[in-house]
Amino acid sequence: MNQYIERVINANKIKNANEPEFLQTVEEVLTSLEPVINAHPEYEKVALLERMTEPERVIEFRVPWVDRDGKVQVNRGFRVQFNNAIGPYKGGLRFDPTVNLGVLKFLAFEQVFKNSLTTLPMGGGKGGSDFNPKQSPHTPGKRCSDAEVMRFCQSFMTELFRHIGPDTDVPAGDMNVGGREIGYLFGQYKRLANEWTGVLTGKGLSFGGSLIRPEATGYGDIYFAENMLAMRGERFEGKKCVISGSGNVASFAAEKLMQLGATVMTLSDRSGAIFCEEGITTKMLQDIMVLKNVKRGELADFAKKTKAVKFFPGANSWQIADKIDAAFPCARQNELNGKDAAYLLKHGCTLVGEGANMPSTPDAIAAFLKAKIMYSPGKASNAGGVATSGLEMSQNSERLSWTAEEVDSKLKRIMKSIHDNAWEAAAKYGDKGNYVMGANIAGFVKVADAMVAQGVC
Ligand code: NAP
Repeated sequence: MNQYIERVINANKIKNANEPEFLQTVEEVLTSLEPVINAHPEYEKVALLERMTEPERVIEFRVPWVDRDGKVQVNRGFRVQFNNAIGPYKGGLRFDPTVNLGVLKFLAFEQVFKNSLTTLPMGGGKGGSDFNPKQSPHTPGKRCSDAEVMRFCQSFMTELFRHIGPDTDVPAGDMNVGGREIGYLFGQYKRLANEWTGVLTGKGLSFGGSLIRPEATGYGDIYFAENMLAMRGERFEGKKCVISGSGNVASFAAEKLMQLGATVMTLSDRSGAIFCEEGITTKMLQDIMVLKNVKRGELADFAKKTKAVKFFPGANSWQIADKIDAAFPCARQNELNGKDAAYLLKHGCTLVGEGANMPSTPDAIAAFLKAKIMYSPGKASNAGGVATSGLEMSQNSERLSWTAEEVDSKLKRIMKSIHDNAWEAAAKYGDKGNYVMGANIAGFVKVADAMVAQGVC
């Protein structure tokens, strides 16, 4: 390995020993940059990799709120402003008990490269809280009420608002932060800042949101995969697909696959996985979207009422079907391991399109690359969400709204250009078809050049 890269990875291991997810992504990204670092020794002279792996700013704060029994609850809030060399910090907010600084640093670091790949002027950031909207603090097994979620969001924004702004940092949604939460966060920002600006994306349509933003990450994942298939002269029609998750990304990836004539056999959540060999129907998918987004229920409940699906409690989506053409991990990080990868490859899978961030473990990635299947890392194939957030920012600045067709065609164009840039960068640096290397290099070069041009800062 290039000695400079090795030194930076080792220094990170010492400095961030308790942040395994962050170290995992730093190692994955930096090792794939080897050809470009070899070709540009000037980067070392300005400590570029050391600066790139250190967030520009980390904000950590207390989030006190009052639950429905009048008891004071205290959560921890964060915003990691990782890199703004090419534009304002941009990246989602995640509310989940698994949120900690290391997880958010991993997500923000990935976001820097992803946002660069979109070709839009956006830097990278990420934030969130260990708040769990799916577990009420007073009744085990019950969710927080809408009013509790609102009070939490208002308290979270009361601190965050002083650190963000339309030209500074523009957060969006992520796990457990959807339209409801973005609405409450935006309402509180507007009150505190006394201004109406597009400071959050993923807003409701009646207050500055963009058509197709909810669909964009899932649709974009499938558009990216269509581009990979096209390189081999293939299409989605008739392909048997497995998807994990049943949230925002998973459900719209499923919808797009169905529109393209593919068979979607699985979806999953924390309760387990559903399986339907003949294909989940559009009616079933609509019912699942209502169940997850409105009733806030579990797939276990859906399976009880739907004879056509089999339910596998506690399982993920990978080791159920006998014949699999394509897999789309769309739930969470490290959800697809080496054994899952071996099963997928053995059962015919030739395409893996990551909708989630870092869903495949390093041994799974190594297996996909060794088998030379079409494998797209999340930072490339899930970039459609943030790209459409960028389009929402443009519409807000112009005080205009574009039609769904306009936004969708821009999204398709962006996903094609991300695909082509990753393809060309991999080919240029000697590993044709390796989208991991291609995406990392294509995302890196633009940010690196901007940082060099801006001096030591
Ligand atoms: P979401 O709507 O909250 O959905 C997450 C899904 O993952 C849910 O089905 C959830 O199940 C499942 N899940 C979470 N933790 C799990 C666990 N420990 N075991 C099993 N299932 C689990 O979130 P999302 O927005 O779709 O995000 C999914 C992934 O895509 C994340 O990695 C996110 O960072 C990434 N991403 C999202 C966007 C975006 O625009 N939303 C953009 C780029 C990347 P339950 O419903 O049971 O909780």
